[in-house]
Amino acid sequence: MGNQHNFDGERMNCGILHIGVGNFHRAHQAFFINQLLRDEDQANWGICGVCLLASDKNTFQNLTAQNLRYTLTVCGRDGRDELHEIEAIKELLWAVEQPDAVLDKIADPAIKIITLTITEGGYNLDKSTQSFIWDNETVEHDLKRPSAPKTIFGFIAEGLRRRREKQVGGLTILSCDNLQHNGDAAKQAFTTFIAEQDEDLFHWVRDHVSFPNSMVDRITPTTTAQDVERLNKKSGIADKAPVYCEDFIQWVIEDNFIAGRPALERVGVEFTDNVEPFENMKLSLLNASHTLLSYPSMLKGYRKVDQAMQDEDIRAFIKTFMDLDITPHVPAPKGTDLEEYKQTLVERFGNKSVSDQVSRLCGDGLSKFPVYIVPNLKKMIAAGQDLSRVAILIAAYRHYLAYLKDDTGSSYEINEPWLTQQDLDLIKDENPLAFLAIPPFKHLNLADEKGFAEHYVNYVKRIKNEGMGTVLANQSLSH
Ligand code: NAD
Repeated sequence: MGNQHNFDGERMNCGILHIGVGNFHRAHQAFFINQLLRDEDQANWGICGVCLLASDKNTFQNLTAQNLRYTLTVCGRDGRDELHEIEAIKELLWAVEQPDAVLDKIADPAIKIITLTITEGGYNLDKSTQSFIWDNETVEHDLKRPSAPKTIFGFIAEGLRRRREKQVGGLTILSCDNLQHNGDAAKQAFTTFIAEQDEDLFHWVRDHVSFPNSMVDRITPTTTAQDVERLNKKSGIADKAPVYCEDFIQWVIEDNFIAGRPALERVGVEFTDNVEPFENMKLSLLNASHTLLSYPSMLKGYRKVDQAMQDEDIRAFIKTFMDLDITPHVPAPKGTDLEEYKQTLVERFGNKSVSDQVSRLCGDGLSKFPVYIVPNLKKMIAAGQDLSRVAILIAAYRHYLAYLKDDTGSSYEINEPWLTQQDLDLIKDENPLAFLAIPPFKHLNLADEKGFAEHYVNYVKRIKNEGMGTVLANQSLSH
């Protein structure tokens, strides 16, 4: 890594503990904090990263080998890249090897905020009811052995217990994942677990921990081995853990920090007393459109989002979905022009230098559908709207999971960490209606929803017989 530093790393204290040091955290929160740490009076808001899973070994080792610094390439829509050297992560712990250090850090008085990017599925909420899942081996383990946790719920509970014993005051848990009302969802998941494990701690948490809602936005692809090579060649820096992302960035946070917060407004973060309109706009338009385009694009043979966005039929499909299906359910947040927002989204998806992976958008659909698609689908059903585009999406999702081959005959890998044998049976069932009983959809009774089921069954057949491309071409002709 280069020798130029913007600030003195030695003087920094960690006021933030972050769990889930994935690509998004390193392109978004760490980017904002990196800028903020230039202000001397903000020097106590460095980040202590925590990798919780065994699969985080490479991230932990690569970052540790380069003093926790890494490069972030911000890819402009105008084709120009900006290189940033990020030094906001001051400490890094790997829970698999250093569980006690993680627990002590949660109880460290300097830590005032725990931020999370642990994916939509990481909150362990049922995909159809959104209630906490007890039937889970590691959760059961953590209930029985509170001092030797394995899950994030066990770690947070034991860390907070130590904090309470040390009498160093409460803290804020700030979810930065794409969930509806992510603070409320985090509160539900953590307090439900803690209430079962330790009732006294539950009462302490109620009075000493706040869970603000937040909306986070910056498209950050997965960094593949080829990307590492490409990015290092461009930057001239031998970085084992580079990250790249788009130039757009937004973070809107409910101003509810029980133990104080960094002055992030200085670097462009928005604080508000109500995040809901922002979060609704982002999940309903950006994330839902990402999901809408993902399976059809994969089946049509695209592997890169920018290339899929060059396809007239895919662009028309997304635009019609945003305008006709979703916009009626998205009140514009104050100061936002929705038409401009949607136009910018189309440009962002088409950003050639980001060239996001279609496979990333397809991944973990079981966790994404309940958050991105189902809430508005319910509203669309209630309003008697045309459900044909959502029917295409769900038919494409079934085809994607069942056949593992696209229109061109090429295969692809799927990444569905929460898929069960029961789900697989429903996917493989010859009757396409059986698929509508997988967890994201089962409570919606879509098989009995006339305006949906006929379209869906028809599209399942047509995707199989005619291919995704033909289905999309006819769809775009009809508008
Ligand atoms: P990533 O795969 O790079 O990182 C995922 C991180 O989550 C890893 O550090 C992993 O250890 C952690 N994790 C996963 N399951 C966990 C669990 N059960 N307990 C604890 N930690 C767990 O993915 P990413 O791109 O960093 O995205 C992570 C999340 O950030 C997304 O799921 C989404 O909610 C949010 N987000 C991502 C983007 C983006 O463009 N990538 C944009 C906005 C929001």
